[in-house]
Amino acid sequence: MYSVAEVDKEICASTKCRLCTQFCPEGNTILYDDAVGTAYVAVDRCKGCEICVGICDDLAKHHAIKMVSIDQVKDGFEISKVGFKATFA
Ligand code: SF4
Ligand code: SF4
Repeated sequence: MYSVAEVDKEICASTKCRLCTQFCPEGNTILYDDAVGTAYVAVDRCKGCEICVGICDDLAKHHAIKMVSIDQVKDGFEISKVGFKATFA
């Protein structure tokens, strides 16, 4: 079992900062959903490096991202493609 990043959408939506999306080393992995107004993680692409956690905690000071075991991802399996998001519960 491995861990992936998960965004607390309630906290994130109150900030609109987008900072984490600029630092993830994996393309199209932590993205910003303009319709909902929060960042989200494409679970299929996340490598579990935790860089985004440090960015949100230490740089943005919002503490909205935590690592969770892949089998405990709350919002289901989010798959990214450029400009498209599909969620499977
Ligand atoms: S750094 Fe944190 S608060 Fe900012 S967009 Fe990312 S998850 Fe949201
Ligand atoms: S844990 Fe690493 S790969 Fe996964 S979303 Fe965060 S920065 Fe990207």
